[in-house]
Amino acid sequence: MKNRTDLTSARDGENESLWQASHPHLEIKPLKENTIYDVVIVGGGITGVTTALELQRKGKKCLLIEAQNLGFGTTGGTSAHLNTFLDATYPEIDSDFGKEASAQLARATKEIIEMIGSNIKSLEIDADFEYKDAFLFSQNQEETEQLKSILSSSQQAGVKVSEVFENGIPIDFQHVLLFKEQAQFHPIKYILGLAREFLKLGGDILEHTFVENSEYKNDIHYINSGNITLQGRHLVWATHIPPGINILSLRNAPYRSYVLAVKLKNRDYPNCLAYDMQEPYHYFRSHEINGDQYLLIGGADHKTGHDDPEKAFSALEKYATENFEISSIDYRWSSQYYVPVDGLPYIGQFPGGDANSFVATGFNGNGMIFGSLSAVILTDLILGIENDLAKLLSPSRLKPVSGFMDFVQENADVAYHFVADRFGTEIIQSTKELKNDEGKIVELEGKKLALYKDVNGQAIALSPVCTHAGCIVNWNASEKSWDCPCHGGRYATDGKVLTGPPRKALERIEIHQTGQA
Ligand SMILES: Cc1cc2nc3c(=O)[nH]c(=O)nc-3n(C[C@H](O)[C@H](O)[C@H](O)COP(=O)(O)OP(=O)(O)OC[C@H]3O[C@@H](n4cnc5c(N)ncnc54)[C@H](O)[C@@H]3O)c2cc1C
Repeated sequence: MKNRTDLTSARDGENESLWQASHPHLEIKPLKENTIYDVVIVGGGITGVTTALELQRKGKKCLLIEAQNLGFGTTGGTSAHLNTFLDATYPEIDSDFGKEASAQLARATKEIIEMIGSNIKSLEIDADFEYKDAFLFSQNQEETEQLKSILSSSQQAGVKVSEVFENGIPIDFQHVLLFKEQAQFHPIKYILGLAREFLKLGGDILEHTFVENSEYKNDIHYINSGNITLQGRHLVWATHIPPGINILSLRNAPYRSYVLAVKLKNRDYPNCLAYDMQEPYHYFRSHEINGDQYLLIGGADHKTGHDDPEKAFSALEKYATENFEISSIDYRWSSQYYVPVDGLPYIGQFPGGDANSFVATGFNGNGMIFGSLSAVILTDLILGIENDLAKLLSPSRLKPVSGFMDFVQENADVAYHFVADRFGTEIIQSTKELKNDEGKIVELEGKKLALYKDVNGQAIALSPVCTHAGCIVNWNASEKSWDCPCHGGRYATDGKVLTGPPRKALERIEIHQTGQA
């Protein structure tokens, strides 16, 4: 398995994704000092890069800031299917938001797939874009009933879908829907191609700059990172949740999803996208990288910090080997996505944030589409142009009642971790019991510590209290990170923030290392 040491570009986890293995280099020039930008966009994933390019194309002078390198976040760990059907199904959208909302989203998702294809064509980006058929299949009666309802709502919404008798992969099914004109692509090659065009049009990019906070004075955002301050008239947070405590943390639950890229003994790689309907569902597609074909199999999702990531990988590997003749598992990685409380993303003015500040989050497993759609909506909002979807997806919208119980459940989890993790009688471990390159929450001299022993046997002790809202982090043995079960904040083994909303690193604790193995 590949790990971080042989990367040319990092990701927010130890495991190398298929996309990191194969992408071009991007030349970025230093910034000119004291520029007041029209728009500063924070976050260099598909959302931030596409938004920056769209605005720059419209004549706005933009700065794109990224904590690490472009593609460091979920865009570097996605599986990059492009679909006109969504994790919030059309029957759910019909019922919670109305049929017109379903029709609007069906139109928008189709247009976004076309927009990505057209960017790739016009900018001559070598991003492996291909239109594909997608199969959604049921495996029991209950799923078949759901599928029938999805068929009727999707057709009413205007999605091209029909019933068929194959699912494109060697897995048993009861009933199948075929969605035409879906697509797949290479997400990192794509965003680097967009970033190149953005630079060509005069945009600026600042990597390795973690934005801690911002202040708004006299119509200017002052955006702070250490002793650097950048200035912009508009501010876009393309970071999932903006740093700090805000309402969006309460409206989005962070989840991890797992992906394997495997080679097949019979080399019979599916020429389609496919999805089952289990909870959580599995997703499938093929991709060729540097002349090698891979089957991607994803799934085993769970709330961040709640389950054991190694067990999730084992479950996915078991599922993959039971269903396919696998010759090798070449890549395995996990990444984070955010499930919105009412099923639809939050794109627009930052609720409770400064004037002229914007957010785009809650994309569920459809962030390639919704991240790109955010670029279109936010560009319109900043230019003062009316956008059909702005109201439906506004972050300030009232929640439909049906989502409210889930919302309460997310917050019940927060309360549980405050109490149970701090005062529970968990098994107390000593540092000596840790293997090299392993982390654990241990109790030393009556205090809980997040303890990691590096590959050379040196221990790094951190306060396990998440700097965002005070929950206790858990060790992620697979991505070698400390993950917070409350709002999805993630930290590297040295305590640095890997994934927001925390603003600050985990506090380093001095320990006496005498007597450690
Ligand atoms: C395993 C998996 C598979 C998926 N598959 C699909 C799929 O097939 N199709 C689909 O449509 N969607 C899919 N998704 C969802 C999709 O990948 C994401 O929603 C999408 O990549 C999010 O893009 P983004 O630009 O909003 O966020 P990110 O790509 O996470 O980018 C955010 C960036 O902001 C930076 N950042 C954060 N905080 C700060 C700060 N304070 N200062 C500076 N920079 C900061 C981060 O370093 C990061 O690079 C999948 C998700 C997962 C986890």
